[in-house]
Amino acid sequence: MAVNIERYKEVVAELLKQNITLVAVSKTKPNQDISDLYNSGQRDFGENYVQELVDKHAVLPSDIRWHFIGHLQTNKAKYIAPFVHLIHGVDSFKLLKEINKQAARCGRVIDCLLQVHIAQEETKFGMDEAELKEVQTNMSSLPNVQISGLMGMASLSDDPEMVRSEFRNLKSIYDRYCKWTTDREQWTILSMGMSSDYRIAIEEGSTMVRIGSLLFGSRQ
Ligand SMILES: *Cc1c(COP(=O)(O)O)cnc(C)c1O
Repeated sequence: MAVNIERYKEVVAELLKQNITLVAVSKTKPNQDISDLYNSGQRDFGENYVQELVDKHAVLPSDIRWHFIGHLQTNKAKYIAPFVHLIHGVDSFKLLKEINKQAARCGRVIDCLLQVHIAQEETKFGMDEAELKEVQTNMSSLPNVQISGLMGMASLSDDPEMVRSEFRNLKSIYDRYCKWTTDREQWTILSMGMSSDYRIAIEEGSTMVRIGSLLFGSRQ
């Protein structure tokens, strides 16, 4: 199935009015689909797998801002460090330390979001508030990473009120940390919302949505 340009334009118009950034999630999708969206103006793309991201980055236009939204294994940070725009799912200090090391080798400061566990499901990655605080306390030792905000995924649920309350919880954590952290002016991104729940996420304060199947069609 090809990318749906008409729907893309509708979504962009809807998000633009509210000043929300769209990350087009292109994992498993062919380069042609990405080029089609690129030619319609999209620049922010999200990928979940390191090798796939590296391959796509090598051949697609160099002004694409690549977001890594998957679970990053520590030993793979080095492959994306030279070019990645924003790493969404950082869920341990160990990983941050490795990103910092690889960023330093590239002479970069890499923007990261800390992933918070908000869903009911045990399987979703992310930190709790105590771990968040712990990480923030140690950030001054990592000059080559910048925490720009938080990311979270709601439960895969048919119950919109449950999804809403999870997003609301993440937003309240975000607000508490904005007040608490020493580099609060850097905290500008709350990445929450996917194809099925992005409208609820925006109502609850999202500033960045990650949308895949709505634009590209369903994945295998
Ligand atoms: C795949 C994925 C998305 C996009 O999901 P859709 O339901 O296709 O919009 C968003 N965020 C993360 C972390 C993902 O892994």
